[in-house]
Amino acid sequence: MESLLLVRYGEIALKGKNRPFFEKSLLKNIKEALGGLEPFNVLFQRGRYFIKISSQHRFAALQKLQKVFGIVSISPVQAVPLELGEICQQAELMLQQHFTGPELTFKVATRRANKHFSHTTPQINSIVGESLLNSYGGLKVDVHNPDITINIEIREKEAYLFFQSFPGPGGLPVGVTGPGLLLLSGGIDSPVAGWMALKRGVKIEALHFHSPPYTGEGATNKVLELCRILAGYGGKITLHLAPFGEIQQQLRQRCPEDLLITLMRRAMFRIAEKLAHHRELGVIYTGESLGQVSSQTLENLTVINNVVTLPVLRPLIGFDKVEIMARARQIDTYQVSIRPFEDCCTLFVPPHPVTRPKLYILEKAEQNIPLDELLNRSLENIKTRVISATVDEADFLFH
Ligand code: ATP
Ligand code: MG
Repeated sequence: MESLLLVRYGEIALKGKNRPFFEKSLLKNIKEALGGLEPFNVLFQRGRYFIKISSQHRFAALQKLQKVFGIVSISPVQAVPLELGEICQQAELMLQQHFTGPELTFKVATRRANKHFSHTTPQINSIVGESLLNSYGGLKVDVHNPDITINIEIREKEAYLFFQSFPGPGGLPVGVTGPGLLLLSGGIDSPVAGWMALKRGVKIEALHFHSPPYTGEGATNKVLELCRILAGYGGKITLHLAPFGEIQQQLRQRCPEDLLITLMRRAMFRIAEKLAHHRELGVIYTGESLGQVSSQTLENLTVINNVVTLPVLRPLIGFDKVEIMARARQIDTYQVSIRPFEDCCTLFVPPHPVTRPKLYILEKAEQNIPLDELLNRSLENIKTRVISATVDEADFLFH
């Protein structure tokens, strides 16, 4: 048996002359998201996507589509020939499945995109409504607060009937903006920042700094798992793993302790920018939120920014931690983020990190270490993997 899903978009409708570009991107993303549920067929028709898929995959398809940015809602629909008798018959059939109790209130809501159809919207509502009332005792009309709404869409070639709409995530199709580089730690914030980048259509690659042997395989697996979850929203994610231990060691041995976090961040940003240029990524994303920790004061953010010329976007800048945590739960990254593994930044945390750093003091401290050499060595030893939403955990290891 085949099922039919009707997919609607939101903001794309406002895109004027660029609309076909957005529609094509969404079509591509829908097909990618449904990968593994073949065979299916996606048809685009005047602002709507119609997906034909085997009924056994209907639920899985719905779940995947609910994560595809650009989609605002999805309805499982029944297609009917453009003829009022057929529409009434199908409405009766569909109602049968829902009519379990002795009484049920309902309304018929028609959308008539095809203005050439023989009947007007109020006529269709009342004819279909009456035919249902004639077929079922215990059925009552309630236009304000019905138990069930029978939706009818009259389009060019067929009519579509449905009872339910499931929300999509909204936003813009991934790939219409960007691409950008996400600084991804194993913490709670940066995966949420990545999700927010994807939501506005930015295709992201991720960069994670690790410090073996201080940080173990557990920390790396956390980041791989986070990428896997993000890939469920944005398609495959290229993850770069950069060694950071040597830089941390040198900074710790040769620079003032209270500057360590700020100096580490400056080193991370420098590596990120070089990688971004190499990968042709136009923007850096981080999970920083103003004032959340001492390294995220306005002064610290300023001196950290100072080492790069690429724009740095911080989608969480105005969020409280509780808001970020709620979003992390909603997008399923929270449980992974709270797994207790050391991140390279939780090592060597000074008791009193500087909150109002002076640029010249940082620059002077950086002269104590062979910075360029260390940055280049980290860059040369980056390992890269492409993570898909369906990658097996056993397959996580970098080679
Ligand atoms: P998060 O929960 O994302 O780790 P946080 O509140 O713990 O954030 P910090 O540890 O100060 O904040 O990190 C600030 C930002 O710097 C992170 O959101 C992330 O974008 C980046 N970052 C921190 N550690 C790493 C890392 N090991 N690899 C890549 N990026 C990192
Ligand atoms: Mg962190």
